Amino acid sequence: MAITRPEGTFDMLPAEARFWARYRDAAFQTFERYGYQAIETPVFEKTDLFVRGIGEATDVVSKEMFHVLSGGNLGKLVAGERVDSRSRFSLRPEGTAGVVRAIAQNGLIEQGAPPVKVAYAGPMFRAERPQHGRQRQFNQVGIECLGADDPTIDAEGIIMAMRFFLSLGIPAQNMKLLVNSMGCEACRPAYREAVKAHIEAHAQDMCDDCRRRVEINPLRAFDCKEEACQQVMASAPLIVDWLDDECRSHYEQVLSYLDAAGIAYEQDATLVRGLDYYTRTVFEIQVSTATSGQNAIGGGGRYDKLMEQIGGKPTPGFGFALGYERSVIALQEAGAMPEDAWGVDLFVAVVEDAARAQAFDVAQKCRDAGLRVELDHQGRSLKSQFKLADKLGAAYVAILGPDELAAGQATLRNMETHEERAVPLSELPAVVQ
Ligand code: AMP
Repeated sequence: MAITRPEGTFDMLPAEARFWARYRDAAFQTFERYGYQAIETPVFEKTDLFVRGIGEATDVVSKEMFHVLSGGNLGKLVAGERVDSRSRFSLRPEGTAGVVRAIAQNGLIEQGAPPVKVAYAGPMFRAERPQHGRQRQFNQVGIECLGADDPTIDAEGIIMAMRFFLSLGIPAQNMKLLVNSMGCEACRPAYREAVKAHIEAHAQDMCDDCRRRVEINPLRAFDCKEEACQQVMASAPLIVDWLDDECRSHYEQVLSYLDAAGIAYEQDATLVRGLDYYTRTVFEIQVSTATSGQNAIGGGGRYDKLMEQIGGKPTPGFGFALGYERSVIALQEAGAMPEDAWGVDLFVAVVEDAARAQAFDVAQKCRDAGLRVELDHQGRSLKSQFKLADKLGAAYVAILGPDELAAGQATLRNMETHEERAVPLSELPAVVQ
C-alpha cells in the first residue's frame, strides 16, 4: 500500500506554499513597523524547556507533545534503561519557550538596553485529535518582546495583530477581540483559591477532568466544553474582582491605549489561556463566522515570570501567536482569499525542432536577467506549446521560427492582447520585464 502523510498533517502544494510565503512576508512587514526583527530557533528543544516554561499540568505539555529521541536512546528506553533528561527532546508545541530560551542563551538582554523585539514563523506540533482547523503540525507567526512591562508593549502588540489580520483581508466585522487580565503572582493565588473553592462546592456537577484538575489548575475549568461545567463556571468568581492595584492599573492602561487607537474589544473575565506562563494581559482574536468550534485565529499575552522559570534573569515579556491555517479558513469563509497570481513571464516556443538548442539558450539568458521563463521539454508541436504556455499563465510567448532566427529575432506575442511584434533576441528581457 502506498505510504500516506501522517494524520493531522497537510501537504502545502505550490499555490498554498506561495500563499504561506506571502502571509509570512506580510506579517513580518507589519511587525517590522513596530520594531520586530525575524528570529529562527530549532523546531525541537529539550523537553524540560517546555515542562518548566509552559507548565507540566497544561494539556499541551501533559498530553500533546511529540517527543523526539535519537535511535540509540529510543533503544535504551525500550530496553528499560535510563535516558538522561538532557537527551530527551520534544517538537515545539509553540514558539515562545524556544524564543525566550534563545534570548537568554545568547545574552540579548543587556542592562539598560531597549526591549528585545523578535518575530518568528514556522511549524508547531501538537498531538491533538485532528479535526477541521486543528492539526498535529500547523504553522504560526508570532512575536515576543522581552525586557519591558509597560502597557504600551501589550497595546501595540494587540493593535499589530489586528492590523495584520485586517491587511490580510479578514473583515473587521468577522473578528472579535477578547481581552482580560490574569493578574500576577501577588493577586492570582487568592483568586485561584476562590475558584478552587467554587469548583469544590459544585464538584458533584462537574466532569472528571475538571475535578481532577482542580488541585493543579482550577482556572482551566473556564475552558471546559461540558455544558454542566460551563453552568457551574458561569457563577464562578471573576479575576477582575481580584486584581491588585498594580495589575488593575496596568490593565486599564492597556485598554485606554486600545480605545485611543480605535480598536474594538470585549472584556472577557473568563478568558484564561491554556499555557501556564501568562500574567496580566491576555487576549484572543476569534472569528465570529467560524463554522467549526476552532474559532481562535490568534492570541497571546504577557508572561513576566517565564524567563525566570526557564532559568534566566527576571525579565518581563509579552508575545502572541497567530494561526496560519485558521486564518486561511477565516479568509475562505469570508470569500476574501486572494487570487493566486502565479504565472511565468515568458514562454519560449519553437516552430521547428532544430531551434530547440537556441530556445534553451534564449530561456537561460532571460532567466539570468530575472524573468520566470519556461519552455517545452517534451517535443510538443507549436500548437501544443501554446496550450502549455496558456496553462502556465505565460504573459508573453517568444516564437522562434526559422525566419526570425535568421534575423536574430523572435516574434513576441502578448498573451493578453494577442499583439505580436518582432523583437531582437538580446532585447527580449527588457521588453518582457
Ligand atoms: P496557542 O499557542 O494555543 O495560543 O495558539 C495560537 C493560535 O495558533 C491559535 O489561535 C490557533 O489559531 C493556532 N493553533 C493552535 N493550535 C492549533 C492546531 N492544533 N491546529 C491549527 N491551528 C492551531
